[in-house]
Parts: sequence; structure tokens; C-alpha cells
Amino acid sequence: MLEIKNLHVELEEEGKPILKGVDLTVETGKVHAIMGPNGSGKSTLSYVLAGREGYAVTEGSAVMEGVDLLDLETEERAAAGLFLAFQYPVEIPGVSNMTFLRTAVNAQRKARGEEEMSATDFLKEVRAKAASLQIDAEMLKRPVNMGFSGGEKKRNEILQMAMLAPKMCILDETDSGLDVDAMKLVAEGVNALRDAGRSFLVITHYQRLLDHIKPDVVHIMADGRIVKTGGPELALEVESNGYADILAEMA
Ligand code: ADP
Ligand code: MG
Ligand code: MG
Repeated sequence: MLEIKNLHVELEEEGKPILKGVDLTVETGKVHAIMGPNGSGKSTLSYVLAGREGYAVTEGSAVMEGVDLLDLETEERAAAGLFLAFQYPVEIPGVSNMTFLRTAVNAQRKARGEEEMSATDFLKEVRAKAASLQIDAEMLKRPVNMGFSGGEKKRNEILQMAMLAPKMCILDETDSGLDVDAMKLVAEGVNALRDAGRSFLVITHYQRLLDHIKPDVVHIMADGRIVKTGGPELALEVESNGYADILAEMA
């Protein structure tokens, strides 16, 4: 699904290197987790994959289903089936959540040469998916994320993901700032989307999210590289020992 090779990225303005040769392969249908200390470049990796401005790729590739994402515009990446749930979901004043979702879904369909979803079908689908994430009708009418609590924003990100049905889902610290109940709801939303044709890259600071979203593979990122890869037991090792042992081992 996704093959990242020797990816080097620096901040465009400062020329400061952030990613220093990331190698990562995510198979179709698998859930990979990335853990790692603060500042190791996890969010940068997700931004670069999604096409956010301000980052310069100086070396390497990120191929999704045979196409180098780095050659595509942001909206082309989304149309190709990439979705990023942000660590800090953006607020969009003046645009209702419902309108935003409908526009996003139809833009994606258009880019794929598909017909627009009818208003009736869209309403049916969005209501059903919102209900499963305990997002009420009133929240759908409000401007995107405006005045939403942390948990509501994260659930809203999962709703967007469910509506867009991407192939490659990247979740950047979707668990941060969530209480246990909200985190479970988010995890259930993600688990409901797990599918043989869909892959996930779950970036998280803590093992606890991975109790609910069981990953197939766990990677540790440090100083702009993937420094260790293992199974779910690696997340448990981090939980009990922190990153110090792993980093010492690498050094
Ligand atoms: P993580 O998500 O693993 O905590 P980040 O990708 O957010 O790490 O950050 C990696 C490093 O890059 C940090 O040292 C951070 O300060 C720096 N960085 C990332 N984006 C910017 C930016 N836009 N301006 C300045 N520094 C940045
Ligand atoms: Mg951080
Ligand atoms: Mg981050």
C-alpha cells in the first residue's frame, strides 16, 4: 500500500533537516503504529505524506499503490485514497460540518470521475456514521470543529475518515487529549473501518490506544528515522521501559 524509501525532509525556510532517511513499508490491510519521543519527526512524516507546505523533500520516495505521492498535489493525494487525521484538527468558521463533509465527499468522487452522491444518500450515510460515533445532529450543523471539545474534534476526524473511506489512513496522535471513553469511541470507529483493502498508520505517544486498536506492526521513530520495528510487544516494552533502552541499544 505504502512504501517509503530513504525519505529526507527539511524545513523549507530554515533548511533544518527533520527526516533523515525514513524507510517504512505498510502492507495492504495492515495496521502499523509509529511511536517515538517528542520531536522525533512523526508529525512531520504525516504532513509530508499529506502534502502540507513548508517542507522540502531532499531525497527519497513515498509510493502509494505504485504512484509517488510526492509528485501529487494535496487534493490528488486525497483523491488517490490518502487521509490524514490531524493531531490538531482545524476549525473552519462559517462552514457547517455537514456542508464540509458533503463537499469533501463530492470533490473526491469528482476527482475519481464518479457521480455526486445524492443528498438523500449522503444524509442517510452521514447520520448513520455520526450516530455510531455519538456525534449528534446538532454537531453536524455547527461550523467545523468550532467550539468542539477535544474529544468531539477527534470523533469528527474519524467521521470524516469514515465518509471518505480512504485506502491509507494516517492518524496523528488521535488519542492525545482524550479521556478513556472518548478514546474507546475513536478506537471503535477506527476498528469498524479496518478492512483487507485498507491500511492504517497510527501515530501515538502511548501504548493505551494500541490496547484498543491492535497494530500488526510497531515502529519506533527517533531523530528522523525508524530505528526499530517489531510486533505489538514493542509498544508494551516502551510502555514499561520508556524509549531510553531502545535508544541506548541503537547508539
Ligand atoms: P513529533 O511529531 O515526533 O513530536 P515533529 O514532526 O512535530 O515531531 O517535529 C520534529 C522536529 O521538527 C521538532 O524538533 C520540531 O520542533 C521541528 N519542526 C517541525 N515542524 C516545524 C516548523 N514548522 N517550524 C519549526 N520547527 C519545526
Ligand atoms: Mg509532538
Ligand atoms: Mg507530533
